Amino acid sequence: MPIEANNPNKKTWISVPENSDFPIQNIPFGVFLTRDDIITIGTRIGDQAIDLGALHQLGYFDGIPLTDDIFLQDTLNDFISDGQKTWRLVRNRISELFDINNKSLQHSSAHKKIVLFSMDEIEMQLPVQIGDYTDFYSSKEHATNVGSMFRDPKSALMPNWLHLPVAYHGRSSTIVPSGVPVRRPMGQTLPKDSERPVFGPSKLVDFELEMAFITTDANLMGEPIPITETEDYIFGMVLFNDWSARDIQKWEYQPLGPFLAKNFASSISPWIVTLDALEPFRTASPVQNPEPLPYLQLKGNHSFDIQLEVDITPENGSPTTVTRSNFKYMYWSMAQQLAHHTVNGCKINSGDIMGSGTLSGPTPDSYGSMLELAWQGTKPIRLNNGENRTFIQDGDTVTMRGFCSKDGIRIGFGELSTKLLPIFKSKSKK
Ligand code: MN
Repeated sequence: MPIEANNPNKKTWISVPENSDFPIQNIPFGVFLTRDDIITIGTRIGDQAIDLGALHQLGYFDGIPLTDDIFLQDTLNDFISDGQKTWRLVRNRISELFDINNKSLQHSSAHKKIVLFSMDEIEMQLPVQIGDYTDFYSSKEHATNVGSMFRDPKSALMPNWLHLPVAYHGRSSTIVPSGVPVRRPMGQTLPKDSERPVFGPSKLVDFELEMAFITTDANLMGEPIPITETEDYIFGMVLFNDWSARDIQKWEYQPLGPFLAKNFASSISPWIVTLDALEPFRTASPVQNPEPLPYLQLKGNHSFDIQLEVDITPENGSPTTVTRSNFKYMYWSMAQQLAHHTVNGCKINSGDIMGSGTLSGPTPDSYGSMLELAWQGTKPIRLNNGENRTFIQDGDTVTMRGFCSKDGIRIGFGELSTKLLPIFKSKSKK
């Protein structure tokens, strides 16, 4: 089935601001609360949110096999379960409806009043109910940098790293959408030159610039997904800020890996950009040496050229861009990650989320965390207002953006913006 929705020549009757992340060729999926406090599944063109539940009730999806309530839900899980064929039919239909040459909805002001919302009238929600969350560690630059700092530069990469996409299972309960503030965590840390830990607020709160992919039901327990089929089970991608407390992490992470340093919060961008929409931006992954085992081998281009950037905005200050990176630097592709994840028969469900790991580029101005950018506090980053940062301070807002751009078409993810609040203080008891 051709992906007609990706046609670069298509124009829409919705006005799309220049450099918008959401031209008619994007058609992402999300969940929002409308001005009437109704929760619905929607998409976005330019700065207009489109209520897919209402469109379906008005008959605009007639002929596509969908249950009546598929878009009248507070998560995308059931729609994602319908599978790739249905996602394509729906995206193509939306593309047709909003095509400048299509008069049906365009000339029905009564229907438009029900279906269209401006972005400031709605509140974006978490797009899926996340059953399981796995975080990979797939940037060679990031793994080398962290290994150098936490252990020793000579053995920065563990012996397994070049042979398999390393990952850990995280918590889905503390994944929140853009706009929801997160709190500085409390925890155990080991002060420098001390043998006994102390308890208190983390002093080294950091962001991790990641992207994540969201899957559909992919397999039965016990059944691996062959690497050639993995991409059929990836619905789309979001920006992902995997908040981290480096001092807690350093003390707790051996021998079983990250725990409380990571599970206090992760933030995602609210619009899921489909893998179909990203299709024109495919590119090669880094060359892999040594050659991976056969179950991890796949020919062709399986990475995507997605430009990424991070701003820090202090309270009452203006934003400073602290890094620019790219998704294409990731050593292990999403296809390899999903093939590896299921090679033992692990079951993948609709709405599962898989983080890429911190996406550090090859140069110091493209690193994906403050740990690396300020090199463990030794090279402070200067902000526009003259202040320095080595990690994130209370009141700072961290904003991530990601977009692809080629031949005059820009497909983006919008913004993932999160404010760091001070530690939780319990109400005093008398
Ligand atoms: Mn991470």
